[in-house]
Amino acid sequence: MEVKLRNCVACSRSVLELRGQFALLDSFYVDDDCPPLESTGLWHARCLGESSYGEAWFAAKRRNFVSVRRYEEVAVLADCSVLRNRNTRDLIAIEKTGMTLSLSFSSKRPKPVEGGFICMTSEDFNLELDDREVIREVQDALEKSSAFALGSLFERLEISDRILHPEAMEGSALRYSRDMPGRWEPDFVCGRAEYGVFVPAALEPYLTR
Ligand SMILES: [Zn+2]
Repeated sequence: MEVKLRNCVACSRSVLELRGQFALLDSFYVDDDCPPLESTGLWHARCLGESSYGEAWFAAKRRNFVSVRRYEEVAVLADCSVLRNRNTRDLIAIEKTGMTLSLSFSSKRPKPVEGGFICMTSEDFNLELDDREVIREVQDALEKSSAFALGSLFERLEISDRILHPEAMEGSALRYSRDMPGRWEPDFVCGRAEYGVFVPAALEPYLTR
């Protein structure tokens, strides 16, 4: 979910807020410039993974979720920590890359791929852009064929090389949703985003519906 597109702290290109593809690093996690304040903001997951900030964000998030939000630590794995919300019972993984991954998926059986699984997800998706040509193109495609491939959107925004686990995006699309065109504007389109989220193999036992 998002409104106006924002840019990545590292590469300054557009970030689409799709599960597994972005991280929002909030300044409330920062304690005495740790993690460094300059690393706060919105990131492509891929850019964060390539940066040197991952471990510091892993430690800061884990500390916050356990000490402040009272999450229960369920498992400590090589690359991440699995935490449970004591109220909702939802599980999340905090990864040493600095990423947070919700482990609740409503979809059917995850699809095995090298190193893990692809879990399908579907969510309302808003896209607001100054580039009206792109918005028009997406709207036309949704009206004519009910879908616009997310891969085409990545190309238009010049972020294809910033997508982590591109195999998760095979067959992904923004889909037409009957109640939505009424809200469309020349610089705004919304629909239903359907795409996959890569989950590392070690986290399979913790997936929930
Ligand atoms: Zn980036």
